[in-house]
Amino acid sequence: MKDQVTRSISLFLLFLTVFSCKTAQVPIHETTAASVLESAYLKYKEPAITHRRFKHADIQPLIQKHSDAFQITKLGESIEGRSISSLDWGDGKIKVMLWSQMHGNESTATMALFDLFNFLEASGDEYQGLRSLLKSSLDLKFIPMINPDGAEAFKRRNAIDIDLNRDAISQISPEAIILKGARDDFEPEFGFNLHDQQTYYNATGTPKQATISVLAPAYNYATDVNEVRIRAMQTIVGMNKILQEVVPGHVGKYDDAFEPRAFGDNITKWGTSTILIESGGYPNDPDKQYIRQLNFMIILNALEQIAKRSYEQYTTAEYFAIPDNDMQLVDLLINELQVPVEGKYYPVDLGIRRRDITAGDSYYMSASVDDLGDMQVYYGLEELDASGLKYAEGKVYVTAFDSVEAIDETKAMELLKEGYLAVKVRNGAKGDLHQLPILVLKSTDVFSSGWKTGTDTNFFLEKEGVRKYAVVNGYLIDLENPKNQEFKQRIY
Ligand SMILES: [Zn+2]
Repeated sequence: MKDQVTRSISLFLLFLTVFSCKTAQVPIHETTAASVLESAYLKYKEPAITHRRFKHADIQPLIQKHSDAFQITKLGESIEGRSISSLDWGDGKIKVMLWSQMHGNESTATMALFDLFNFLEASGDEYQGLRSLLKSSLDLKFIPMINPDGAEAFKRRNAIDIDLNRDAISQISPEAIILKGARDDFEPEFGFNLHDQQTYYNATGTPKQATISVLAPAYNYATDVNEVRIRAMQTIVGMNKILQEVVPGHVGKYDDAFEPRAFGDNITKWGTSTILIESGGYPNDPDKQYIRQLNFMIILNALEQIAKRSYEQYTTAEYFAIPDNDMQLVDLLINELQVPVEGKYYPVDLGIRRRDITAGDSYYMSASVDDLGDMQVYYGLEELDASGLKYAEGKVYVTAFDSVEAIDETKAMELLKEGYLAVKVRNGAKGDLHQLPILVLKSTDVFSSGWKTGTDTNFFLEKEGVRKYAVVNGYLIDLENPKNQEFKQRIY
């Protein structure tokens, strides 16, 4: 009897499966191809945002622009009085909330959200099928730039110097209260927690930058997996498939150690399947405009998976198979450089990192030795085998130039070849930005140099007394065959 019932149910289910496969326009397991997501991005990217240091004031007109298609609600204000708004879209039942930039200097996904708004608001194009599916299935709530005060200074923390991602429970910051309040009122089934990470993350065991890192955050110390977390993991598997097509190997999975104060962990705990996206680095994309495109593509893919519930086809095993994040990258790895100590030379590998420092709407780089010795477990975004090369100091050119404009790249290269690493200028101010391959001094007559940990990296690499390479603020310059590179420097 029991067998008969089971068989009848099985037949019925089989019938349903066959029937639904035959009638559906698109088989349920398929989502929009990466190439189509890419063309949608190119068509709808928000042209008013061109770099990642935009501010709260820059996005207000962009929010208002969507007031017909989206329901816009002011949720509250930051400590310094900047508005935080949500944009709601969709007539469906599946609630999804997406929030970005709780760390003020992590703006990549915010850019992608404005690109998405343009996409969602449009109509009658080749993407209308996807858009209609999302509109009829989903109830979307977007909260771009949760930390506008941090964004103003392009810094991580808010105006009380609190890390909002450690304020989910204490709720000291108004911005944290706004985010938790929105989640509690809306009770989304899915949540997207959108961040940036350092560019030094790599996919474990490979030299590839973790351009996108993902996580389905844990909701307890045991890092248990429940239905809420499984849905997030499954959706991430689908997103990773898109990424592996366009940036193979450039995806890392974040550590899932439980952080009891963090939003992602707690929002998972409160019952929302939460997906963390961390935007890292990608070669030749310092302003993260390509990574912005990747965010657009995978968020759109995830929304489609959620609308179709097609994430159900994936397993947690596939999620766990995504390589872990590691942090073994440096900008420049110089292997086996001979460095002088007490009259003797020792071969060391130098790991140099160049960090970007915000200056107004732009930035400059500041390089130093991160570590040295045996660096074989590290990967350089750029590497040089310096065996046979010796460390050598450079000089300051004594005759001052009128200004930075009076020096061009050819002149700077000439001076480097003659052993000068720095020039002086009469006009201009300390902190002014320039793009020369040489140090420029205004407020000082000297520059710092060295090869030990923490020191500024300004030196030459010599072979038998002949200068072969210059390292200027961490930029490697081949004196015979200089390659094209952009120098982001400031006057000292
Ligand atoms: Zn962050």
